Amino acid sequence: MKIHKALLAVVLGSFLAAGLAFAADAKKDAAAPAAKVAGCCAKAAKDSKACGHACCVTSAKESKNCEKCGGAGAIEAKK
Ligand SMILES: [Zn+2]
Ligand SMILES: [Zn+2]
Repeated sequence: MKIHKALLAVVLGSFLAAGLAFAADAKKDAAAPAAKVAGCCAKAAKDSKACGHACCVTSAKESKNCEKCGGAGAIEAKK
């Protein structure tokens, strides 16, 4: 019986760990909403340029995607 109890504890422990990992992932997703680059800015980035729109420049200074032009969230850090 002792062995069975130990086995059960290991199984329950791994389930708990998996559950915690899932919870952490969900928390991370909630904290960082999907970032979306505005169409005009994505076009400019393709040409290795910064978008010239005044609204986009202002947003970029705050490390945000321009919401006026259809963007959302924070600008992704360059990797
Ligand atoms: Zn733009
Ligand atoms: Zn804009």
